[in-house]
Amino acid sequence: MSQPKPIKKLSIIVPVYNEAEGVRQFHKMLVAEVAKLQLQSHEIIFVNDGSSDNSAAVLDKLAQQGAPETRAIHLTRNFGKEAALSAGLHNASGDAAIMLDSDGQHPPSMMGEFMAAYKEGYDMVVGVRTDNLDEKKVKKLGNKLYYRLLKMVGVSHLQPRVTDFRLLSREVMDEFSRFSERRRITRGLLDWMGFNVTYIEFKSPSRLAGTATYDTKKLMYLAVDSILSNSRKPLAISLALGSLISLLSTVGFVFIATEVYLLDDPLGLKLTGSALLFMVTLFMIGIILVAQGIASLYLARIYEETQKRPLYIIDRVRSTKL
Ligand code: UDP
Ligand code: MG
Repeated sequence: MSQPKPIKKLSIIVPVYNEAEGVRQFHKMLVAEVAKLQLQSHEIIFVNDGSSDNSAAVLDKLAQQGAPETRAIHLTRNFGKEAALSAGLHNASGDAAIMLDSDGQHPPSMMGEFMAAYKEGYDMVVGVRTDNLDEKKVKKLGNKLYYRLLKMVGVSHLQPRVTDFRLLSREVMDEFSRFSERRRITRGLLDWMGFNVTYIEFKSPSRLAGTATYDTKKLMYLAVDSILSNSRKPLAISLALGSLISLLSTVGFVFIATEVYLLDDPLGLKLTGSALLFMVTLFMIGIILVAQGIASLYLARIYEETQKRPLYIIDRVRSTKL
């Protein structure tokens, strides 16, 4: 681990979607906590993710009152939290950044601990949720199943309870801006990068106001995205299934042909020609699935190439001059 660069300027990135009710209180809490950090300089970047309530006006007001530190970036429409976080990171000029939800579920009071961990020499400090007071039992169960599924398809860098509440070093931010994929899950990509990471547990309090906008449908999409963008295994399913069907039907065909036509039904199964025909049909289905599976392998290649993920990520370059 190398010596971390001191944080002269800290960027705080906050995605906002329809949080008009609570965001003012959140800003107040945030400013109070930032003051405790005794930073040389900082910026608070609110990214308004196309809110349809009064958030835009509230944020503009906060930006006006909190200038020059507080800024509001307004996206043209709702692009989703992942895009909003990227917009914030791309526009941050600090030596490090902390990303926080605007509903108060990522307690600003934890920022000091994050900074202390960074000073120990980590490139990224990741908040791990121990408890979410707003989470229903169904969602918890869904979460559990989801991570089991992820494990099954070989996606190991996505960990349960790991959140977007993070501190990122400048290096991580710069590398992150090289990702060009459109459908993205910020925490998944950050974890994929392989920097030195440390984890800090936090209790997620209830929202300051309103309800979570990540409903079941959005979360399902996110879950499917995270699997498709990280695993090729689903594509291989048809190949495996096709091979299995072809193999079994071949065995069945040989068995029926031998039993009925060569040996004159010694087992007394009374199988007719349609049983044989069924085996031939099954075999053909198997072949089609295999062909599709092979095509999928090429598709997977094309998919990976079009993602244009960075091929590698360099850790700090050290030279004697430094
Ligand atoms: N958010 C956003 N765009 C969206 C949905 C949510 O920027 O399309 C923001 C939201 O304002 C909040 C954070 O992302 O600051 C987390 O959202 P939410 O509380 O709805 O989700 P959960 O707490 O279930 O993760
Ligand atoms: Mg929330």
